[in-house]
Amino acid sequence: MTDYFDSLDATIHKEGRRWEVSIPKDANTELSLDETVVQLVTHPEEADNDAVALTPGSDLFEQIVDDAVTHAPIGSLALTGDDVNFDDPDYVVGESTEVTNQQLTPYYDRHALCVLFDVGIETVSEYQCEMLKIGAVDLADYEPRPQLAQTCLKYLEQTSPPPSEGNHRLSDGELTEAIAACREMVRVEIDSNIEDIREKATRAASVEIEEYRQYLQQRRDELRAEKQQLSEQIDELSTAIDAASERTDRLKRLRERKQLRDELADLRDELDGVRDSLNQGMPQKRAEIRDRHALTVRIRPVTATIVTHERGELDVSVRTDDCSATLTCDYAVGIGTLSRPTCDQCGTELDAQNPVEISPVKTTGRQCCGQ
Ligand SMILES: [Zn+2]
Repeated sequence: MTDYFDSLDATIHKEGRRWEVSIPKDANTELSLDETVVQLVTHPEEADNDAVALTPGSDLFEQIVDDAVTHAPIGSLALTGDDVNFDDPDYVVGESTEVTNQQLTPYYDRHALCVLFDVGIETVSEYQCEMLKIGAVDLADYEPRPQLAQTCLKYLEQTSPPPSEGNHRLSDGELTEAIAACREMVRVEIDSNIEDIREKATRAASVEIEEYRQYLQQRRDELRAEKQQLSEQIDELSTAIDAASERTDRLKRLRERKQLRDELADLRDELDGVRDSLNQGMPQKRAEIRDRHALTVRIRPVTATIVTHERGELDVSVRTDDCSATLTCDYAVGIGTLSRPTCDQCGTELDAQNPVEISPVKTTGRQCCGQ
């Protein structure tokens, strides 16, 4: 954290866990701290009234992490046709038909932003999971590009440097919007994980509430029994007091009765409290348990990479024993084919169910227009 403040030329006066931080107005950051007291704490609520809490999960912490990624040097990756091994298309089927060549003719470059996120889903009590997720959006329309994200992840996981670097630049505004779109893509992706964990947490909370209810019912029964016992003891004492002939004996028993009556009053108060809590559905305890099981989801960007990738036409050369043909489809490096070649005769798309059949004059689908 200090390193990050230093990188912004901030001045920091440290007094134990209280830091007074000022960031120069012209620093390259969205953070605005001016003689602000930042306090390092374990829980946000522990911070003094005049201080801003700094702890994982606090607003300031999240702002700093987002800010660090937004202003960190952004990686870049350029994917060209030279970097890919084209998979054999699924519409080439059978022993007598084979792919002899695949050639990409690039027409233009598209740019996308890939962002790696550290995702944490946790409750104060028991459940938590931590994972890395990647999101990618096209920088022209901010639409999700899941396949490109996976391609990018493959390169990020490799220790070797990427095949080549791109030189596309982004404004801060574009970057912020693209990171937000990537975050949204990842959020949608983890939605079912969140739901699962939320359900588990809700079940755990219900079990805890039920256990507490049973504890209260047991306590209520105990208190009732104790109250009964005390009342009987008091009655016995009263009888003894009436019958007592000696003054000292009588005074001693009166004191005893007074003490038991005080105990009985305390017991009644506790019993009333337990009864009220049970009758009202234990609102305080319920809220406390729910809070403890409430989910916190944080999606924190770790790295951002601009991916420049070529788009164009892929020519697929196919040959049988006696003739050959070339089929064409739209292709994006890092994403794959964007369209399928079609049957010359009827226009149906070729795929695994409708594989290509070539003759000296035309290329058709075996299922739609086969011999
Ligand atoms: Zn056809």
